Amino acid sequence: MTSTVPSLFEAAQRVMPGGVSSPVRAYRSVGGDPVFIASAAGAFVTGADGNEYLDFVGSWGPALLGHAHPNVVAAVQSAAQWGLSFGAPTTAETALAEAIIARIPVLDKVRFTSTGTEACMTAIRLARGCTGRNLVIKFAGCYHGHSDALLAEAGSGVATQGLPGSAGVTPGATQDTLVLPYNDLPALEATFAQHGAAIAAVITEPCAANMGLVPPAPGWNTALRRLTAQHGALLIYDEVLTGFRASATGWWGIEGQPCSWEPDLFTFGKVIGGGMPLAALAGRADIMDHLAPVGAVYQAGTLSGNPLATASGLATLKLATADVYAGIGRWADQAVALLEERLTAASIPHAIQRGGTLFSVFFGEDPASRAAGQGSRVGGQGSRAGVARPNAVTTGAAVTNYAQAQRQDVDLFARFHRAMREAGVLLPPSAFETWFVSAAHGERELEMLNGALGAALPSLNSNQLRTAG
Ligand SMILES: *Cc1c(COP(=O)(O)O)cnc(C)c1O
Repeated sequence: MTSTVPSLFEAAQRVMPGGVSSPVRAYRSVGGDPVFIASAAGAFVTGADGNEYLDFVGSWGPALLGHAHPNVVAAVQSAAQWGLSFGAPTTAETALAEAIIARIPVLDKVRFTSTGTEACMTAIRLARGCTGRNLVIKFAGCYHGHSDALLAEAGSGVATQGLPGSAGVTPGATQDTLVLPYNDLPALEATFAQHGAAIAAVITEPCAANMGLVPPAPGWNTALRRLTAQHGALLIYDEVLTGFRASATGWWGIEGQPCSWEPDLFTFGKVIGGGMPLAALAGRADIMDHLAPVGAVYQAGTLSGNPLATASGLATLKLATADVYAGIGRWADQAVALLEERLTAASIPHAIQRGGTLFSVFFGEDPASRAAGQGSRVGGQGSRAGVARPNAVTTGAAVTNYAQAQRQDVDLFARFHRAMREAGVLLPPSAFETWFVSAAHGERELEMLNGALGAALPSLNSNQLRTAG
């Protein structure tokens, strides 16, 4: 007799499309039912079935300190007793804006939103409002949230779904969005030569992390700055993922600061809310003051700057000291070295790419070399450079753009994901995502990762090896 009691996922699917509130969570690209999470603490999440997993999703970025850090929880609880939302200014917003500006002193002003999607959408509107121009350049594989104009070749979730963009987005909504390959200077120069006077902004992930981790080629971000400045367009650094995670000062602190130049606008999210819905755009006063009520560019939000979210973000940033970032960086070094060693020993073709504290693993024969007709194996040059120079701004990375990222072996990744889950480790359920490490990942967690790899890799080692070309 079959049970009439639906599984948690079946019950969810009855009342929610795909059973989820965001598509990647449905595990479509890795198979199996998603883990329904009941609780999380430190480096671990506990499923509704009672199983505990070592977690590398970290709520897709916010859990920098580990899940449910006691001080962050206490800050939220304390804020909650004074009221959940006012729709009015609070001193906590000022304090969080000051904390953000203290880390990235090239910023003058911050506007809070609830999601990274809103922050990026507003940054684009602001750039168009400031410049009086229409065109926006984005790069294939970079994700800037799900607003219509930016949902073109948008990486991770969309890539995982295998959609060309999205149904329901009209050609009108994307006609002013030009999509170029990441790290392709000739394409960028040609586009500026042709459309320069009409380009309002270039929006980029300064270290791409939504097509797997794809660092900028040496000089790439500087070229973006030079060309935008030459043509009177704004440069928008989308640091929703990398901000206050790739380093204490985001990707800007790794690359921008020593280069002594800065983008015109930044967007932040994920870490700055510490797990609560909060994001922001920020930049120079002469640009930010185009926003209403000072300027003519409208933007608003009932829950923007929510007191619980600002309390959570402020507590998180206060606790995210230089030591925290150094520790996460060291842990990532060790994890990358371990992965490199175990995957190589198991003869599983792969490339590990690194940017600041972030890394991801591409499975399969070298997509980049294959494109160049060399047919060599992934896992050499790129990953070694990444290990040796954790903050390397690219050197030797095997995958440099979205077209190459799409040639990774997603089936092999799916089997790896399932085997690791079986062994008690929860990885992001998509080959196009980075691994998120937290300050709560320590010695014991490294041992657990090692043990899980030992259990998982042998099951992958049969009949998946493919010849190049
Ligand atoms: C997550 C992300 C967004 C969107 O943020 P949401 O809060 O999910 O709307 C935008 N840009 C980048 C780079 C992201 O990683």
